[in-house]
Amino acid sequence: MNGGEVMTTRKDYYEILGVPRDATKEDIKKAYRKLVKQWHPDAYKGSDKKNAEEKFKEIQEAYEVLSDPQKRSMYDRFGYVGEPSYSGGKTSGNSGGFFEDIFGDFQDIFDVFFGGSRTAHSTRTHRSVKGEDIHATITVELKDTINGKITFLEYNRKATCNACNGTGAENGTSFSTCPRCNGTGTVTEEHRSFFGVFTNTHVCEACGGTGKIINKRCPACHGTGTVQERHRVRINIPPGVEDGATIRLAGQGNSGRYGGPNGDLYVRVRVSMPPYYRRSGNDILYTVEIDYTQAALGTVVKIPLPEGSYENLKIPAGTDPGTVFKLKGYGIPSMSSGRRGDILVTVKVKIPKPSLKEKKLLEELARTKGISR
Ligand SMILES: [Zn+2]
Ligand SMILES: [Zn+2]
Repeated sequence: MNGGEVMTTRKDYYEILGVPRDATKEDIKKAYRKLVKQWHPDAYKGSDKKNAEEKFKEIQEAYEVLSDPQKRSMYDRFGYVGEPSYSGGKTSGNSGGFFEDIFGDFQDIFDVFFGGSRTAHSTRTHRSVKGEDIHATITVELKDTINGKITFLEYNRKATCNACNGTGAENGTSFSTCPRCNGTGTVTEEHRSFFGVFTNTHVCEACGGTGKIINKRCPACHGTGTVQERHRVRINIPPGVEDGATIRLAGQGNSGRYGGPNGDLYVRVRVSMPPYYRRSGNDILYTVEIDYTQAALGTVVKIPLPEGSYENLKIPAGTDPGTVFKLKGYGIPSMSSGRRGDILVTVKVKIPKPSLKEKKLLEELARTKGISR
């Protein structure tokens, strides 16, 4: 498993849902419902199931963003959403009852995707548990965000124990059948009341739903089924990434149990700005200080560029303090279009206390201009 897929946040969510950029909430909801009927793994009629699942995830992701006014406005402005908080991707297996729900109330559909499938997990005979997500932070230099950068991250994570194949039992075989549930993984209890007999089926707490009891624990993992491993992933820093943006690497988190999928890795990106810059969207704000004689006579100043080099900026004679010059296309690239913003240079004019010689010259100048003191 290497690299995983970086959740490129450049996807066009409008295109995915097939709606115009000014679509109303209602339009978006309608388009989503239609696509869900077509692409949900349980509903999909075609042969490329894998592709359908990916497509479905994309649709969920798009809807999650565009249906939330705050996320939508962020997406419209920056082309991505900083914190992917959606609980999508839980499409595998057990979202049974989907067809009943799809024709019911919309809220029900929502429940199936974002809550229902999780509850379904707990009632499965052999529960499979998704591994926990891992959160990490990396810091990149501003210059790395201009063209993007490939970087690597090393971290500890839980991996499936090879000695017992993740079962936690010695050699992966030292089991006996759970006496509490007779190997079924579930226990049914009867409750008698005035109204009759009710049965309640739940996961067997003696074996955790596996139906098996470990006789001898695996010495390599002490029966946990997982071991710590040092893991290294490749992270693709996209051009124009914003400070605080999160990149998701699917499956790079802790390993799942009982055949469950791995958790994901969420990498929060911090962008370290040089102290002389301020960022405003994709523009860079920079202040240059010049002498009043330079402002009066004109000059050329060197402006540092985010990639490390300099650009000469001509300040014309007679420039007022506070004038803003634009270095077009030297700013930060937009994540969606790749187009770079500008550097906006504000001119600050210093007026130091003049030396004796300067004072004489200035008095001379004042006289020729007829300024009385
Ligand atoms: Zn083990
Ligand atoms: Zn049991």
